[in-house]
Amino acid sequence: TCAAPVAVAIDGADLPRGFGLPAVPGRADRLFAHDGQITKSPIRALTLAALAPRPGEVLWDIGGGSGSVAVEWALAGGRAVTVEPRADRIAHIRDNLDAFGVTHRITAIHGAAPDMLPPGAPDAVFVGGGASQALLEALWTRLPPGARLVANAVTLETESLLTRWHADHGGHLLRIDIAEAAPLGRMRGWSPARPIVQWSVTC
Ligand code: SAH
Repeated sequence: TCAAPVAVAIDGADLPRGFGLPAVPGRADRLFAHDGQITKSPIRALTLAALAPRPGEVLWDIGGGSGSVAVEWALAGGRAVTVEPRADRIAHIRDNLDAFGVTHRITAIHGAAPDMLPPGAPDAVFVGGGASQALLEALWTRLPPGARLVANAVTLETESLLTRWHADHGGHLLRIDIAEAAPLGRMRGWSPARPIVQWSVTC
């Protein structure tokens, strides 16, 4: 076991070590209200790294789910609009915006892409759900030079869509295969997650 607990002074306050929100993306899934549809912490960390937030920038988070990607973008100093068609998930998103204190930085739109896209032009777009040829075409005409587009695929259909767009437009195609140790009888084994294919490109 670790050593006995010792309080540490953080900004002058006596707090238990590890208190408070970590400073970098990939925060624990359990910090977010969700129904299982959440971009898991390690994948989220890689996704935010690819989205490359700068303070003051605007993200469109398509397929908001729990809103975790938009929340982590806002915690990095940006503003976001998240689009999610399911009312129960919009409720989770609102709970998470409240809990993380970022309600003023994120707008949740109840609707489906590509019909429902925010006005204006973003600095980055994340497609975590609702990927389609029509959506990518709509985004492509709206993204200004320097904007980042990051899309994650878990299905073969979306993977093949992203593979074609990578062939036509370049960028990086990353396959993320991770596994976590889990009980296997009285021992442990690797429990693999479904592979994620991530296409990221700068316009
Ligand atoms: N990144 C999210 C998880 C996304 S799961 C998180 O971390 O919580 C994919 C989401 O895309 C689901 O919530 C699903 O309802 C949504 N979705 C499906 N089709 C969509 C569409 N056409 N437009 C927007 N969102 C869509």
